[in-house]
Amino acid sequence: MKLDAKLLRYLSSEEFRVLTAVEMGSKNHEVVPTPLIAQIAKLKSGGAHKVLGELAKHNLVARVQNAKYDGYRLTYGGYDYLALHTFAVRGSIHSVGNQIGVGKESDIYIVADDDGVQHVLKIHRLGRTSFRAVKSKRDYLESRKSASWMYMSRLAATKEYAFMRALHEHGFPVPTPIDQNRHCVAMSLVDGVPLTHVAEVADVGQLYADLMALLLRLAAHGLVHGDFNEFNLLVREVDQKPVLIDFPQMISTNHPNAKEQFDRDVECVKTYFRRRYNFDATWWPEFDRDVARTVDLDAAVSASGACKLTKRQQRELEQFLLEKRAEDDGEGEVDEDESESEAESEELRGESEPTSADSSAEVEQIGATLQRIHLDQAARLG
Ligand code: ADP
Ligand code: MG
Repeated sequence: MKLDAKLLRYLSSEEFRVLTAVEMGSKNHEVVPTPLIAQIAKLKSGGAHKVLGELAKHNLVARVQNAKYDGYRLTYGGYDYLALHTFAVRGSIHSVGNQIGVGKESDIYIVADDDGVQHVLKIHRLGRTSFRAVKSKRDYLESRKSASWMYMSRLAATKEYAFMRALHEHGFPVPTPIDQNRHCVAMSLVDGVPLTHVAEVADVGQLYADLMALLLRLAAHGLVHGDFNEFNLLVREVDQKPVLIDFPQMISTNHPNAKEQFDRDVECVKTYFRRRYNFDATWWPEFDRDVARTVDLDAAVSASGACKLTKRQQRELEQFLLEKRAEDDGEGEVDEDESESEAESEELRGESEPTSADSSAEVEQIGATLQRIHLDQAARLG
């Protein structure tokens, strides 16, 4: 595992307490007032000031000077630190290696547990690029609009983990879920590559059939994936069998959009096989004709309490992801509201997380965070 010694830093227990206090305060405050942080952390305000300065220097919190008051907000780096700290304490992640993916909405790392077994860590980053969606969420996120990226990312990770577990328990080809905290999910590392990187398939017809069977089996369990594409389907090295990933947008077959999304998933595979493998399908499933639900996993997950999201939170996440998708689909189009929203974007950008433009800085930041955790653990172990 790659570790860069010059970035190593160990958080004292006081620093950790203050960082936690900023997180707690941000549940109700867009910018957490410094006196409140001191109060939550049970420190004198001078002491809190000093510690906050330290944390800010390491990009775990950011100082915000607002018209009304001065305060701090948690950064992605700080939120990452807290999640990784929890994983480290639980023993589910011991060290962090290379980043293997940078999605628009996530970062993917190879990690290792206490026994040295390699896994995958998915850090959700909802709202990293989607400023318009964040803006429109302001209405119903009134009480916690500040934390909307944090909040939405946490909802996404919570839902992803719950569904990965349910699917795994029902024998679906998905990664083995390992742990979840805040906006992070740890899962097994799939020995394979995304379909988009598979230039040649030994038996194209077989893989096509496997994928359609998978869609139908999901639907028989009451679920529509909704993003069933060549990036979310990994093909196993050993036998070229598919493994499905990426679940935050999954919906129930009872959902009003179920048919549309199911047909879209089917179409996605059909089109891809035609374009990439010159495979002209003669059969494909249709929602109305072929979907027969025998198990309702969506309801089961909710009923079991495995997905710790309230109905309202599920709706919030769904709404966010739908708007995000509409925005992605319409990329390049200019709507009437555009100039105003672009201005808003700029304004938001100023106080928001790094955009993809400085993602290398972000990557470095995460590297630094993870190394701190490592050191933190090493220090604990003596
Ligand atoms: P996003 O929500 O950003 O699309 P994904 O969950 O689809 O994130 O993961 C992004 C990429 O990371 C995948 O296309 C795949 O290449 C890689 N990846 C994700 N999870 C795993 C895993 N468990 N094993 C191997 N590779 C993975
Ligand atoms: Mg994906």
